[in-house]
This record gives sequence, structure tokens and C-alpha cells, in this order.
Amino acid sequence: MTQYVNEPSNYQLLIKNLLFSPVAFNPQQEIVYGNHRRHSYQTFHDRVKQLANVLTQMGVKKGDTVAVMDYDSHRYLECYFAIPMLGAKLHMINVRLSPEQILYTIDHAEDDIVLIHEEFLPILDQIKGRIDTVTDYIVLRDNDQCQYEQLLAQQPAEFNFPEFDENTIATTFYTTGTTGLPKGVFFTHRQLVLHTLGILSSIGTNAVQGRLHQGDIYMPITPMFHVHAWGLPYMATMLGVKQVYPGKYVPDTLLGLIEQEGVTFSHCVPTILHLLLSSPKSQTVDFSHWKVVIGGAALPKALCKAALERGIDVFAGYGMSETGPILSLVQLTQEHLDMDLDQQAEYRAKTGKKVALVEAHIVDEQMNRLPHDGSQSGEIVVRAPWLTPSYHKDNKNSKALWRGGYLHTGDVATIDGDGFIKITDRVKDMIKISGEWVSSLELEDILHQHPAVSEAAVIGMPHSKWGEVPLALIAVKADATVTEKELVSFAKEFISKGILAREALLLKVKLVDAIAKTSVGKVDKKELRRLYPQ
Ligand code: AMP
Repeated sequence: MTQYVNEPSNYQLLIKNLLFSPVAFNPQQEIVYGNHRRHSYQTFHDRVKQLANVLTQMGVKKGDTVAVMDYDSHRYLECYFAIPMLGAKLHMINVRLSPEQILYTIDHAEDDIVLIHEEFLPILDQIKGRIDTVTDYIVLRDNDQCQYEQLLAQQPAEFNFPEFDENTIATTFYTTGTTGLPKGVFFTHRQLVLHTLGILSSIGTNAVQGRLHQGDIYMPITPMFHVHAWGLPYMATMLGVKQVYPGKYVPDTLLGLIEQEGVTFSHCVPTILHLLLSSPKSQTVDFSHWKVVIGGAALPKALCKAALERGIDVFAGYGMSETGPILSLVQLTQEHLDMDLDQQAEYRAKTGKKVALVEAHIVDEQMNRLPHDGSQSGEIVVRAPWLTPSYHKDNKNSKALWRGGYLHTGDVATIDGDGFIKITDRVKDMIKISGEWVSSLELEDILHQHPAVSEAAVIGMPHSKWGEVPLALIAVKADATVTEKELVSFAKEFISKGILAREALLLKVKLVDAIAKTSVGKVDKKELRRLYPQ
């Protein structure tokens, strides 16, 4: 492969080509960072080159890993490009993981340099002494005197980005694993370019609804550390549209930016949409030009309808960390738009149809394909050009992920005759709280450490605000006594020790006589979910 790379005729699908060939070429187009900064694409390009110079002088070379801990910012966008364009890997650190998990991911990814926003320095203080690989840190602050800005200012805005094999790894990040240890996924230049083009060929072409186009103003509201903010910053940059990066997610700031900057295209998890619509400030915001993809968790029909009533073009998308992420999107026809809001919400809240180049099937446990009749449900298995090839340094889980030649999503769904996917259940043992995973097995492990606990089973319980909260069903040992409150406090100690993520604070505990089992004696989570719906 590599011998062809330097052939002029052999065009490699590299991230730099997304940056340097925007569809709408307009050097004056704006990049906005909250209320702190705005500059042109020309400046953005200059800064990407300056950052490349900074990193090169710090010794970063092809194959190295540069990590980022930042809120959604113009800086993060610069890192999305400059780091991979050097042939290095961008590690997007999930700042919502517990400090111990963050330490694990930094070590596991073998980060060389970390760019860190000052607000995350207290996390770093807890773990710094135990980080082995990092040689340098760059501190980010929202002013021109910060180290990042000073370093950039000293560098020329010239850099000759190298050509290399499109199969070079560009990005990496970690998703919470069922065993508690985060699992690393990674994506190559080729995969990210194809994800950009593939998704745009779906989301950019729909006739009547939910279209991302050159006239849009884009603002992410899913964090940039989370699966490349669903790949949208790459798409927005390639389209050359105005981009707004909101910093820390504060509902009134987000609403203010939507209003002041005229944002027309965003994506978020249902919890954020719910927060935005519940804010008193939202009552005066005109949402009639706002298109919002909802993913990361099921879009509740009631929330969908509430958003439609506010004039929002709201629709679901589906994917996961392992899939880059986008696999499917809702795209409606005029026939759907002619329906009343109730019926429309039904379609908008499904998980849509697969996007270009995605192959998806629903299968039973023996990998037999099930019919697309809208009623039979099975696990979704997929193939696409942008799925993680494996988990980083983890053969066992990689084999399970890719068994039978398809990536196993761990999600259970039906597919109807029109190709609409609807997720109905989950086979993976995880709970998603406000877009972040908590491992039920990890919580069970912790609760088992309490001397009074005989058996613990944790399931996700639907919650109107958080999506899901963990419910621990506990059978107590015959000779022991303990209260539900004591067990909650016991689990919370593991949060203060930095072992469990903060989301676990929402844990509820229920003492039960016995825990339902399957015929082979395994805890029957499906039955538990049925028995304890809320
Ligand atoms: P993550 O890897 O954190 O992005 O989580 C991906 C998982 O979130 C998927 O495997 C699903 O379980 C869930 N998910 C994502 N989008 C949706 C959706 N539209 N409806 C239901 N579940 C979803």
C-alpha cells in the first residue's frame, strides 16, 4: 500500500483535504467561540498551521498521541485538524469519566502531550503523579494570555502538511466498557473522510426536512470528546459553513447563542433538549429555523412533540462510539410532513433509515437474519467503511465486537418494510445517564463489596430528565441487615474516591427477596426490567 502513497495520481483520503477544499470557499466565513471570540476561516487555517508548528517543535511526530481535555471550542476544532494532519493521533479525553478512568485512558492510549482547559486541572492534580507517558502539558484558558495562545502567537502561519497513507490512525477515544474499564476505539483518515462524505450524502440531500447545507449555521451540543461530536465539525468545515462552539453547556448560554448567532443546525442528547426547552429563557427564543438531530439515547415521543410545537425540526439519529458514529438518520418525506404532529413524532422518534454505505441487519443469537417486518426484533449488526477495526489492545472484546464478520451493536431493534429502524431494547449491560454510560456490572461489583449484600443486580430505569437512572436490586444475606439508604451512601464513597463516574450519584436501591434468574441461572435483566419498570 505505502509504495503508492507518494504517487501524484494516488489521492489519499486525508483529513487535510476536508480542510483545504471547502465546498463553499469563503475565507471570511466565521468561527465563533461562545461570547469570547470570533474569527474567520482564514484565521482558523492560519491557527491550524501555527498549532502544527507548536506541536512539531514540542517533538510531536507521526504515530504520537496528543490528547485534549477542553470544552467545545475553536481550539478543539483546531486540534481536530492539526493533530491528525501531522500523522499523530488525536485522543479526545472524556472529561466526564472518573479521574481514575481518565488516568487509565491516558496510560492506555500512551498520550505524549495533553492540552488541558484550566477547569480540568483539579482532575489532573489527582492523577498527575501516576501518569507515565506524558512529557508536556499545554494549558488552555479563555483569554489571549493563556499558554496555548502565547505558543500559537510565536509561530508562523505556514506549514507543509505531509502526505501519508490514508489508513493512518487519526483519532482515538474511550467508551465505557461493561467490565468497568474503558475501551479504546480508533479511526483512520480514510474512515473519517468517508464518514464525512457518506453522512453528508444522506443528510445533505433530503428533499424536505433535516438537511444540512451551505447556508446553515452549525453549533454542536454533544461534546467534542464524544465520537467526534458525531462527525459534524468535519462536515461543517468541509461545507465551509459558519460554526459556533458554545464552551461549557449552560442552557441559557446555549439559548443565547442560538438566538444571537442564528444557529440553524445542532445535535444533542434528549436530556439537553429537555433542559433547553424547560428553561424559562426558551419561551422567547424563535426556534423556527433550528434543525436538531437527537441521538445517544431514544428520543421520547413527548419530547419530540414538544419540540415540534416550538417549531423545531427535530429528528433522531443512531450510532455508537464504535461506529464513528452515524449509522442511521430519520429523513422524512412530504407525506410524513403532511401528517399531524402526533403521527410525525412517531416517525421522527424512530431511529431512522441507514445512511449511504451502511449495511445493517437484525439477527438472532445464531446470527440468522430476521425479516424486516416491523415486529420481529433482533440485535442490530452492521458493516460500513467507518467502523472501528477493533478495541485498542483488547483482542477478547474486539473478537466479540466483530463476531461473524459484523460489528455487534448490542442494541435490539425492529426494522419495518420501509427501512425504518426502531430500537426496542439493549443486550449490553450498560445504563445511559444523560448521554454517559455507567456500567451496571461495575456498580454490581461495588455493591457486592458491602458485607450485607448477598446478590446485586443493576438495571436502567427510565427517567424523564436523565433518560435512565440505575436501579440496584439487592438481596440481603440471611443474617444481615442494611437499609437502602446505607447502600446508596456506600456506593457514593466510590464516587468520592474517583472510581465511579459522577452519574452514578443518581443510583436508587431497592431491597428485594430474590432476584429473577433465567433457565440457566443467569440474572434475568429483561425480566427485572419488566418487574421494576420504575
Ligand atoms: P455511545 O457509544 O456512548 O455513543 O452510545 C451508543 C449507544 O447509545 C447505542 O448503542 C444505543 O444503545 C444508544 N443510542 C444511540 N442513539 C440512539 C437512539 N437514537 N435511540 C436509542 N438508543 C440510542
